[in-house]
Amino acid sequence: MQQKLRLYNTLSREKVVFEPINPPFVGMYVCGPTVYNNVHLGNVRTFTSFDILFRYLKHLGYKVRYVRNITDVGHLVNDADDGEDKIGKIAKLENLEPMEIVQRYTTDFHDVMARINNLPPSIEPTATGHLLEQISMIKELLVKGMAYEVNGSVYFSVRKYNDQYKYGELSGRNIDELLAGSRDLDGQDEKQESFDFALWKRATGGHIMRWDSPWSTGFPGWHLECSVMSHKYLGKTFDIHGGGLDLKFPHHECEIAQGTAANGVHPVKYWLHANMLTINGQKMSKSLGNSILPDELFTGNHELLDQAYSPMTLRFAMLQAHYRSTMDISNDALKAASKAYRKLMNGLRIAKDLKYDESATVDKNEKAISQINSIVDSIYRGLNDDLNTAVAIAGLFNMQKKLNSIHLGQLQPESLDKDTFDRMISTFTTISHDVLGLVEEKPQNLENAIDIVLEDYKTAKQAKDYDKVDVIRAKLKEMGLSVKDMKDRIEWAYEE
Ligand code: AMP
Ligand code: ZN
Repeated sequence: MQQKLRLYNTLSREKVVFEPINPPFVGMYVCGPTVYNNVHLGNVRTFTSFDILFRYLKHLGYKVRYVRNITDVGHLVNDADDGEDKIGKIAKLENLEPMEIVQRYTTDFHDVMARINNLPPSIEPTATGHLLEQISMIKELLVKGMAYEVNGSVYFSVRKYNDQYKYGELSGRNIDELLAGSRDLDGQDEKQESFDFALWKRATGGHIMRWDSPWSTGFPGWHLECSVMSHKYLGKTFDIHGGGLDLKFPHHECEIAQGTAANGVHPVKYWLHANMLTINGQKMSKSLGNSILPDELFTGNHELLDQAYSPMTLRFAMLQAHYRSTMDISNDALKAASKAYRKLMNGLRIAKDLKYDESATVDKNEKAISQINSIVDSIYRGLNDDLNTAVAIAGLFNMQKKLNSIHLGQLQPESLDKDTFDRMISTFTTISHDVLGLVEEKPQNLENAIDIVLEDYKTAKQAKDYDKVDVIRAKLKEMGLSVKDMKDRIEWAYEE
């Protein structure tokens, strides 16, 4: 591993050199979506940030096991410990099985991830698929004295945990502050203290998502699934845990407490958090009513959008911001991204066609050689600096100037040494395609282009230019199309 990747660890609050626990293997866990509605652009941003990390780690040669879960039970409305399940609530409203809701929005999520070219994770476990493991972990926490049962529900005792370890390390909160900031428990509350959180909840009357357990018929607490599934697939302590910044507290803080209490070791070496996508400076969120869905963006069908923007335009726009900064989405930003993305795609088309003739004897252009090598270094320096994709993109555009010079005949490829030429082409293409995940979006309206070709065909036929007629027929055939000479018109059809 020649590249030294530095990542900002939210736990130690500093950039540190990434050193996996068991190289070349890397275990990475990212909290996935709660599948009760369509993902919005904010969710997409977080998953794209971690897609870049997954891609870059693989590019560096690591063997990454990337686990991203699907939350299909236990996430209650308002992220609280009481109330309805987000999925159960929608299922009731629509008179459907909760698993129908889960299926619908999981499919939507996968479609969006594929359109935006985010790679699928190595494992995508669900919370309902791991109920036995969740029950086992609760038993373990009860045996260790870190949890208590009340009326068929089980809660994690933050105070007991804090006596032995330290609660609040990730978010920088301590339990006294948490107590001061919380409401007093009312008589109805089963918890011993307000900062305790549910591991298992007894299902009351209207709660339709429920399973048997030693304590009651009920359902697991939201924070538990990630501890259980990361442990099962990545081990007691694994390399990277990611999620959106809004999950830092309480979700990730609770995960740390559960994992440490159960296994005696901190579950994660590097905690990474992606910052929020905002709109007019406000976090995009379904509950605030300011969310834009990917489909609304791709069709332009949203009151705040001037036009449609393609999936790659969105991806490019997201890469122009650093993942730890907020990113405000606007028509201006998207228009600029669309232009820049298309410019980069032109660079890729040029790069594909450039050739190096090893038999040519040309004086070497030492200045260009050194410039190109330092551009390559700047691209890696950006990515190694906590995944600064904006710096990497700036480097790609600098590289594109050199590619253009070669394309226009101003710089001879052979005036570079072969290694530099190869390094230039491979860095430009692999960083764009493999690491940033930017791929060409072919023009959609192919029929217009075919109509233009058919006009040419007609003109050639009228002029009895049969060579040209044959060439056009052959080219269309290569595309799987055939020309039909009708009595009064010319048509095309799929070649049969
Ligand atoms: P949820 O389905 O609500 O649990 O969210 C799925 C992921 O999207 C979590 O990692 C959240 O932190 C993240 N997320 C939610 N809203 C935003 C936003 N406005 N910008 C970026 N990420 C977000
Ligand atoms: Zn989680």
